[in-house]
Amino acid sequence: MLGWLVDRKINPHIPVLDKAGRTDGTWSRADFEWDAENNQYICPEGEPLKQFRRNYSDPNRGPTGKGVAKYQALKHTCQACQSKMKCCPNADARKITREEHEDARQVARDIAKTKQYAISMRLRKKVEMLFAHLKRILGLGRLRLRGPCGANDEFLLAATAQNLRKLAKIFPAPQQTRKA
Ligand code: SF4
Repeated sequence: MLGWLVDRKINPHIPVLDKAGRTDGTWSRADFEWDAENNQYICPEGEPLKQFRRNYSDPNRGPTGKGVAKYQALKHTCQACQSKMKCCPNADARKITREEHEDARQVARDIAKTKQYAISMRLRKKVEMLFAHLKRILGLGRLRLRGPCGANDEFLLAATAQNLRKLAKIFPAPQQTRKA
């Protein structure tokens, strides 16, 4: 979805689900530099982590750019590395995975550091509160009508009710005074 949005020049104000971070103090993916031109990561010791180390004559066997790609350093390089304990203490060589739409994910991560993102997250809560209200108070946990048109009609009616409720709060009805 992030890839779809970024391709269409839409800024994704969406949190990225990311499990690349590490909690044991070892280097995470963010510590490795992405070298897009050569399709490889460069580790903090300057060694490349590659997806493939040979040139396939059959393009179907080489990088496809689809799904999750795995990048790996050379085993003998990691074994001799002075930073191995900080990098991959329990593995022969360091491996890193890269999602198909990692560039779009990075765009979303960068947006998440901006002031505008904090504002949109605040506004998002307001919108989600309306959906929660629809479900809990107006009983829209299930739709009665079937099909997209039925759903559209029900949501339109429920949103109208919500807006009327809001209007009633903004402009309360004038108090009736009793005639003597
Ligand atoms: S262990 Fe391997 S990948 Fe990690 S820093 Fe050393 S050479 Fe680079």
